[in-house]
Amino acid sequence: MEHQTRFNTVQQRVVRGARERAASLVSNYYRVAPREWQRMPYEVRTLRSLDSSEVTDEAFAQTVCYTFRREAGSLVLEEGDFFRICLQDHRILDAMRDLQLRLEPLLTCVLTHELVHVVRFGQHLQRIDLPQELRSCEEQKVEKTTQAILSRAGDPDISRFLSSNGRCAGDPSRR
Ligand SMILES: [Zn+2]
Repeated sequence: MEHQTRFNTVQQRVVRGARERAASLVSNYYRVAPREWQRMPYEVRTLRSLDSSEVTDEAFAQTVCYTFRREAGSLVLEEGDFFRICLQDHRILDAMRDLQLRLEPLLTCVLTHELVHVVRFGQHLQRIDLPQELRSCEEQKVEKTTQAILSRAGDPDISRFLSSNGRCAGDPSRR
């Protein structure tokens, strides 16, 4: 794989802050209690800890769904879906430069979009194996919800990002 620009240490810290902010915006919108949110099966990874199959040049982020299973001998203790939000550092850094945006609001937009996907999967409002012809419709719904959530944030940088392009991220998939 060719070398892509990655977030530095300071930017990694911004990722953690934006992740908290997006989680609080999304959980407030869907009225998910903090204890319930703690159990939400997702993680956020940046380029340095992605598998090469999780890297894309097509979007700022993509959410990949994995099935996890905890076993003890022949006994299945726990089984379910797990979502990995894969941030594409190189694409985000390019957009930041091109659109002259600060990193934090941009990341907040991208993570909010992906967390809306995660909540919709969790509440079975969306199927992960959606046929291609229904995907753009689902993507529009997610984008609309994302914009409703973000406009409540009342952040001028976020508003500028939404009016400049509006599209936060790509389609989720299952591996
Ligand atoms: Zn999406």
